[in-house]
Amino acid sequence: MFNINRNYELAENEGSSLQTGNKYIVLHETTNIGAKANASYFKNNWATTQTYVQYVIGDGGKIYQVGADGYQAWGAGSYANANSPVQIELARTTDKATFKKDYATFVNFARSKAKQYGIPCTLDGSGNGIKTHKWISENIWGSHTDPVESYLEPFWGITHEQLTHDIAVGIEDVVEPKKTFTNINNVVTTLKGNVKAYATYKLDGSANSTTDIAPGTGWISAGIEMINGEPQYCIGGNIYIPQSITTFKDKVLINSDIPVHAVNLKGEVVGANLDGGSAWKYAAVVNVPKVGYCYKIATDMYLPLKYAQGSGYKG
Ligand SMILES: [Zn+2]
Repeated sequence: MFNINRNYELAENEGSSLQTGNKYIVLHETTNIGAKANASYFKNNWATTQTYVQYVIGDGGKIYQVGADGYQAWGAGSYANANSPVQIELARTTDKATFKKDYATFVNFARSKAKQYGIPCTLDGSGNGIKTHKWISENIWGSHTDPVESYLEPFWGITHEQLTHDIAVGIEDVVEPKKTFTNINNVVTTLKGNVKAYATYKLDGSANSTTDIAPGTGWISAGIEMINGEPQYCIGGNIYIPQSITTFKDKVLINSDIPVHAVNLKGEVVGANLDGGSAWKYAAVVNVPKVGYCYKIATDMYLPLKYAQGSGYKG
């Protein structure tokens, strides 16, 4: 699931040979730019600086391994070092697109390592869990305030509350875009059915008495809203048509040419990637907490509306 670059991994005889307890995953930020540069620095200076961690993440979602999982790293004081099988540094960047990939990987990788070691995906709570270096400073030892106060919040507006939420549920768009969304198709076509015209609706659910539309006609959708209990496409100012009168009547088509992820009812990313352009039958439309309305495409598998053709989503 994650690609790990091992070019700067410590050798068998480098770093600590002491194994850790499994209480914490510790989150840091490097204070300077570039994951590769930081991983290389750790590799070449661990002995003189007495500082390194297991992973450095950055450069557009890349993951560099330095120390070994389950063996002490030197990043957060003796107690935290002895009880954290994994400590992770987020490298800085000034580029927004790079940051988005870095942050998603940072969060999802920390969650993955926590699960591997039976550590709760709870940020800075009492007991075991994922901890900011600041929490370690305030509750165990040290003075560092990373990664939120020093970087995430002042540079990118990611508050402690936001990080806590993201650590709890993961970041949905975990797939690293090899390219940006293209071939977005927001055209919806009414069924050819045996009718003269279809009614259209307003956002409040009432019918637009003067704006009926013909069967077999195509419309550009600006978005999807839940109206009268079903998804309806916005085809003009306060003019909506039900999905059930279109060729998307009983299916959704993924609107991108790159894979996307579905979520479960808790809003967590689940399952394999769904191919761009693929078609899915859906059983219902469900409001998933913190994600919003989603098509139910399998048992406990929900596709956010924005990934459907006709959603108006532009990537
Ligand atoms: Zn730190």
